[in-house]
Amino acid sequence: MAKTNQFPKTTLSGVAAESDKLKTVLISAMVEVSGHVRFGDGTDIDTTITETDMVLNPNGDSVHKFIWAGSKRRGVDRRTIHQMRNRYWQDTNCYIPQLCGQCPTCWLYGFTGTTQDANSVIKKLGINAKSRIHYPTSVSIETVEQGQNRHNRNMVDEKKQTTAGEAGIHKEQVIVAGVHFPIYTSAMQVLDWELGAFAHALLENLNANRYTAASRAQGGVRWATDYKDAPILVVDESSDGIFPLNVPKISGWETDYQHKVINPFLEATSKESIKSSFELMGFEIGEGDDSPTVKHDSNCLFNISFNGNDNVIIKQNGEIKMTRYQGNAALGYLRRCQLAWQSYLNELQTGEFWKDVNSYVEAIK
Ligand SMILES: [Zn+2]
Repeated sequence: MAKTNQFPKTTLSGVAAESDKLKTVLISAMVEVSGHVRFGDGTDIDTTITETDMVLNPNGDSVHKFIWAGSKRRGVDRRTIHQMRNRYWQDTNCYIPQLCGQCPTCWLYGFTGTTQDANSVIKKLGINAKSRIHYPTSVSIETVEQGQNRHNRNMVDEKKQTTAGEAGIHKEQVIVAGVHFPIYTSAMQVLDWELGAFAHALLENLNANRYTAASRAQGGVRWATDYKDAPILVVDESSDGIFPLNVPKISGWETDYQHKVINPFLEATSKESIKSSFELMGFEIGEGDDSPTVKHDSNCLFNISFNGNDNVIIKQNGEIKMTRYQGNAALGYLRRCQLAWQSYLNELQTGEFWKDVNSYVEAIK
C-alpha cells in the first residue's frame, strides 16, 4: 500500500489529490503537414524564417531538420483550454500573460507567482506551480532539403490594383505538405478532467488547424494515418507512472518514414513485438496466446491481455499496471477524456476551486 504525505488533499485539482485518483498518461502521435506551415516565426533580414536545427546521426554526420518547439504547442493548447474554461468560469480574469494562479488551468499548466508585478494577485500568492503537462520539442522526419520552400507574397492595393509598395512584398520560408513530426506529450499525475483539458486542445487544434504560425491563411497539420486510415497514435495510461512497455519514440536523425518510423507505432499493440520485447529483456513468456505471462526465474511478473488489435492491458498481481490504446481506440480514449473536462467545468461551483486548492497553498507556504 502506498503511503500518503501530510499535505491537505485536493479533489478539484490533481496538484495534491489522493494518489489513487491520479494517473500518468503518455501520448505519442505522428502529425503530417497538410498545407504550408511554420512553427514560430523568425526574421532574417527580409525573410520570415522557420526554425530548423542540425542533428547528428550515429555516423556523426549532420542532418538538417525542422523543429516544432514544445513551447509552440503548449501556448496554442493553453489558449484553446482558456477559451473553453471561460465559457464556465467567472471567478478570475486569467489570460496569457496575466495568469491568475487561482483557476483550474493555472494549476494544471502552471504559473510563476514570485516574479510578477508587486501589486498583482498572483504575486501575493507568493508561490509558483509547475505544469503537469510536458511538451518536448519535436524534430521532423524529413530533412530541410526535402521539405522547405520559399515564397514571395505580395499585398495588392485594392484601388489601384497594384502591389502596395516595397513593404507589401515579403519573402517567407514554409514547410511543405507531407512533412511528418512525431509529437510526444506526458501528462504527469493528472485527474481525468485534467487529461481531458489537454485532449480537448490536441483534438480541436488539429481539427481547426490552429497549430502553426499564419495558420489562418495557409493550412495546418493532420493526424498521419496508417494503411487502414487509422490515426498513428498511441496512448499509454498508468496509475502509478510505471510503464512496462516502451513508448514508440523516434530518433531525431531518422529520415526513413516508410520503413523505420511508422513501424514502432504500428507494432505498439502487436502480440509478437510485445512478447519479443520482454524476451529481449531476459524474461520468459509463459502459456496463453491471448493472455500470456511474463516470468523471471519462474516468478510471474506480469500478465498481458491482448484485446483486439488496438488495446493491451498489463497486470501485476491482478492489478492493472498499464493500459495501451492504439489508433482509433486511442482517439476514442481522448474523446472520452474531453467530455470529462467539459462536464467538470459544467459542474464546478463558484468559489469551490480556490477553496479546495487554497488549503494546499497555505500548507506549502
Ligand atoms: Zn488562471
